[in-house]
Amino acid sequence: MTSLRPPYTGRSPSWPAIGHPCPHCGEVTPGGAVGALCQACEHALARQASLVGRVGALVTTLLLSGYLVLALRSVPAARAGTARLVGATAVAAWYLLTARIVRRIASEWLRAARS
Ligand SMILES: [Zn+2]
Repeated sequence: MTSLRPPYTGRSPSWPAIGHPCPHCGEVTPGGAVGALCQACEHALARQASLVGRVGALVTTLLLSGYLVLALRSVPAARAGTARLVGATAVAAWYLLTARIVRRIASEWLRAARS
């Protein structure tokens, strides 16, 4: 009687990895989830979202800085140093938070546009 089992080789069988095509470029990525972008598309998406985040944060930070320069002119001279320090801290925090938020929104929007 012949066996249908493959001969025992001592190694585990190497099954081919199941892959799915990238919805953007069509490249099959082994082990990738259905509908997931390939590594190159993920990298390009992250780079593009980072650029959008930095530009968006820069524009809004410039607007906030202009407003603060105008608003802080009416602060008495005795408190001008403190007001400038608080304003500069607010501008720095604004840039960092806005860059993260805009980058995240751009990432999700670009991912939806590429799927
Ligand atoms: Zn791709």
